[in-house]
Amino acid sequence: MTTMTETNLLSARLNALSESETLAMTKKARELALQGHKVISLSVGEPDFQTPQHIKDAAKKAIDDGFSFYTPVPGTLELRQGIAAKLKRDNNLDFGPENIVVSTGAKQSIANVLLCLVDPGDEVIIFAPYWVSYIEMVKLAEGTPVIVNGTIENDFKVTAAQVQKAITPRTKAILFSSPCNPTGSVFSEKELREIAEVVAKNERVFVIADEIYEYINYEGKHFSIGSVPAIKDRVITVNGFSKGYAMTGWRVGYIGAAKWIAAACDKIQGQVTSGTCSIAQKAAYAGITGDLGFAKEMTAAYLRRRNLVIDLLKQIPGVKVNVPQGAFYAFPDISSYIGKSHNGTTIKSAGDLAMFILNDVHVSSVGGDAFGAPNNIRISFAASDENLKEALRRIKECLAKLK
Ligand code: PMP
Ligand code: GLU
Repeated sequence: MTTMTETNLLSARLNALSESETLAMTKKARELALQGHKVISLSVGEPDFQTPQHIKDAAKKAIDDGFSFYTPVPGTLELRQGIAAKLKRDNNLDFGPENIVVSTGAKQSIANVLLCLVDPGDEVIIFAPYWVSYIEMVKLAEGTPVIVNGTIENDFKVTAAQVQKAITPRTKAILFSSPCNPTGSVFSEKELREIAEVVAKNERVFVIADEIYEYINYEGKHFSIGSVPAIKDRVITVNGFSKGYAMTGWRVGYIGAAKWIAAACDKIQGQVTSGTCSIAQKAAYAGITGDLGFAKEMTAAYLRRRNLVIDLLKQIPGVKVNVPQGAFYAFPDISSYIGKSHNGTTIKSAGDLAMFILNDVHVSSVGGDAFGAPNNIRISFAASDENLKEALRRIKECLAKLK
């Protein structure tokens, strides 16, 4: 007979789930800071910029105007129209408001889509390195994550040939981000067209294209796989306001998809959260219809910081780096430190190393294990130049202790 413990009272679904490592490391960093340590937090991926003033003003006006009621579940018509216009302008996607569902962050958008499409046992191909939550969301939907590894030779990007090889009769969807969290890799139009050709040949397969870092692109060229005519009805384009508009806490994300998929997401969201915050939707509308100058300014600052961080990482013995072309993460290979020790602590994994750095010199990062990349750690460079310089000085000093 099993004994009653709190754990076995929880559902099998919950027990199978891992905690988000990005959020767990950030929580630990906050705890150390509360104890009075001078912590530099480079674990959570969020812009260090303020939400632009015109967006804040729109929210204040919405409050004063009494815009405080439930909105339609998939979002206000004006916001969905604004999003449809943006998707046409920037991404060459032909959507009307009925193709758009606005959610409480892109996180909910992706969860909605997976819960709508995936049956128990369905396989979802996830490109690795991947964003931590993809695997867990597929598990929540009772699907089977199928990991396909991008190789360092191909800048961590999975090729069309690898996708073709991974497809089985149970494959339901392919899920990836470009620009990629955590590697910063950006798929080219050519690479995405090749993947689209494979998808076109496999009629049961959907693509969930997470484009949340679209505006944080140092190459300046974003391509949406959903614009390829042969597969456009099977691509769900995910985007949101957290990164490009510096609005992480406002919680607004969205999808553009075929009407029946949008209707399914509307149905599921209607039973779980309803429409996201009415005030945040007014703010998002001001963002999506407003000037994009500040997004360009933010990206210029991230580019400067990327160059700074990559240069400083290159100066640390035993650390190998790729040059991220988008997003705001450095993803150095630190495998030469695995197996080394200091004062009785042995580093057995990238997660151990991230924890050692946090405890020793109070800089938080995230071990690559959680991203399907056990040789790497992720360092966000969405922080001030001063903090980045100081953090990298501390990391170098800390790693030198490991023998
Ligand atoms: N996708 C990726 C790749 C991300 O890094 C994030 C970051 N949180 C999200 C989706 C979700 O963003 P949000 O829920 O804040 O819109
Ligand atoms: N997406 C960000 C990250 O990867 C925010 C934290 C989260 O939601 O996981 O750090």
